[in-house]
Amino acid sequence: MFDKVLIANRGEIALRILRSCKELGIKTVAVYSKADRDLKHVRLADESVCIGPNSSTESYLNIPAIIAAMEITDSVAVHPGYGFLAENADFAEQVQKSGFVFIGPDPDVIRMMGDKVSAIDAMKKAGVPTVPGSDGPLPDDESACQVIAERIGYPIIIKAAAGGGGRGMRVVHEASALWKSIQVTKSEAGAAFGDSTVYMEKFLQNPRHVEVQILADGQGNAIHLFDRDCSLQRRHQKVLEEAPAPGIDMAVREEVYEACTKACNEIGYRGAGTFEFLYEDGRFYFIEMNTRIQVEHPVTEMVTGIDLISEQIRVCAGEKLRLKQEDIVLRGHAFECRINAEDPKNFMPSPGKVTKYHAPGGLGVRVDSHLYSDYTVPPYYDSMIAKLITHGDDRRSALKRMEIALDELVVAGIKTNTDLQKDLVRDEAFAKGGVNIHYLEKKLGL
Ligand code: ADP
Repeated sequence: MFDKVLIANRGEIALRILRSCKELGIKTVAVYSKADRDLKHVRLADESVCIGPNSSTESYLNIPAIIAAMEITDSVAVHPGYGFLAENADFAEQVQKSGFVFIGPDPDVIRMMGDKVSAIDAMKKAGVPTVPGSDGPLPDDESACQVIAERIGYPIIIKAAAGGGGRGMRVVHEASALWKSIQVTKSEAGAAFGDSTVYMEKFLQNPRHVEVQILADGQGNAIHLFDRDCSLQRRHQKVLEEAPAPGIDMAVREEVYEACTKACNEIGYRGAGTFEFLYEDGRFYFIEMNTRIQVEHPVTEMVTGIDLISEQIRVCAGEKLRLKQEDIVLRGHAFECRINAEDPKNFMPSPGKVTKYHAPGGLGVRVDSHLYSDYTVPPYYDSMIAKLITHGDDRRSALKRMEIALDELVVAGIKTNTDLQKDLVRDEAFAKGGVNIHYLEKKLGL
């Protein structure tokens, strides 16, 4: 096992990683920007290093500063968390070249999955169901593109191979708009991602977002930990997640799980990872793979009892996956509400001093948060300040617990989206289960 791990992240996930490291007996190094001196995990880590000024470009995204911090602290490995450098293949490569371990898959695997065209290609080969599409990048030929679109059938969506964060996509409803849309998406993709490659997919009209959690050791062992439904989204940002995805036939899911674990072994995947799918009319369609731990991983932990971050660290330290598929048993249901420091009216970030903080508690209630009373939420980073997670024997009891937990939560001094979450857990359609990815925006009148 690693002697010392550097945590290259901030906020709740840095604290979450620190806790797993402590359980594994690993020493921890926190790195922080000037604005983040008072973060909870910085105080709890064995050592801490300031890696730069407030802006994330100069701190949490500053590769030389992070590698230097590993050197001066004699760290052995780095955990990137999510966001920031978590899916940056160049970072993973530089970490390895400097003689350290990147807690995640090999740089080549990150690179392959970061390019959606090559990711889809790899998935098809492994038998993972994908969205009907262009089978590769679009050619620079208008009539050839028209033929592809006719074959797929309108509406279609043009997507940047290097896209991410819900950017670099354009829906096209009719042939007359196709060529212009391709040109615009290409130039946007070139400007935003430095790669103007685009491809085409059938645009699914009312899908759900369902994703499969996997763990793999890169030594031929891969397992799945069932699925999550993250359909409640605003601007492609997940708001409320649950595990398992409600109301989907187990036989259909088992087929997808099997394809995912097979794909992991074929690409030599190591660590924790997520296969994201759109689910419509009883069918799964792969859209992308996230080669990191995800924000919503706790709902899976609650229904399986497995510490995903510990297992991720173990396999990245070279251990064989110690869990077998039959060890993974689905028990009950879990929800996660993301609590953001934001204005409920316009969703603008609302940083500032938290004058009072009371976390909810009780059986089946978990709070992953770096908050404490008098902590000041800085304006420079993501606005998520807490994840409220509840577990119950069934979906109804887990949802009821969430209602109670949200009512108990007190975050004073700043604005939060807690009232929106209270609304959502009392929403009739959501309570039934299975709303699609447009539901939240429609409800909000957007
Ligand atoms: P990103 O990497 O930017 O998150 P994704 O490929 O994961 O991009 O897609 C983000 C979101 O865009 C999906 O969750 C879904 O809402 C929408 N989307 C993407 N592809 C399709 C499609 N073929 N049909 C309908 N919606 C899609």
